Amino acid sequence: MKKIIIAIDGHSSCGKSTMAKALAKKTGYTYIDTGAMYRAVTLFALRHGLIADGEIKADELERFLPQVSIGFMYDSEGMQHTLLDGEDVEREIRGMEVSQNVSPVSALPFVREAMVAQQRIMGQSGAIVMDGRDIGTTVFPNAELKIFVTARDDVRAQRRYDEMVQKGEDPVFEDVLENVRQRDWIDSHREVSPLRQADDAIVLDNSDMTIPQQDEWLMNHFIMATAE
Ligand code: C5P
Repeated sequence: MKKIIIAIDGHSSCGKSTMAKALAKKTGYTYIDTGAMYRAVTLFALRHGLIADGEIKADELERFLPQVSIGFMYDSEGMQHTLLDGEDVEREIRGMEVSQNVSPVSALPFVREAMVAQQRIMGQSGAIVMDGRDIGTTVFPNAELKIFVTARDDVRAQRRYDEMVQKGEDPVFEDVLENVRQRDWIDSHREVSPLRQADDAIVLDNSDMTIPQQDEWLMNHFIMATAE
């Protein structure tokens, strides 16, 4: 069976990573969460005072960025943890402060250039499932299987809200919904590689699907793409 690159792009909080992780586990492919990389850069900027009142000190961030190390490690259960300069920041990058600042940081051309270069290296030998916003359009335009995932925004906000509650946080639903809408808007209107469906992507609206149903849908497309 040939080893392919699977690009899963789409709107915020529509279950891309859940389906990407499940497929990676079943197929033995490597899962790469590119959103986590942009979140880690955002956390770095927040920690170093490079974002104040929503304003990003872009010049300083650009100067620091080459020294910032972002990576992944896997725990004994196979769960992926994001590392920022060697520190496990998985929990912190999922919080509201990072979520509220990540899209403006991700819109900076020098941030995209640095992340895309790393992502291409990570995926160069194939057998990867990579999720994000620009994987099928910019990072791997030749990916053999491209999926564009979407769902109604209220459904997506509810999923994100439930996830946060499960982690012991106390979010306000309206804030979560506003954040989902705002990230979608910024992600699809930025100048450099905006979020858009690649011409050859297969669209999945999973608003009314269960997780097992979407996993099965994706597995079927994987089987077809690797059989060709
Ligand atoms: O996937 P996740 O929601 O964790 O991504 C967080 C943010 O990172 C997105 O809202 C988007 O602004 C940015 N992102 C991006 N390009 C990617 C992945 C994520 O701009 N490939």
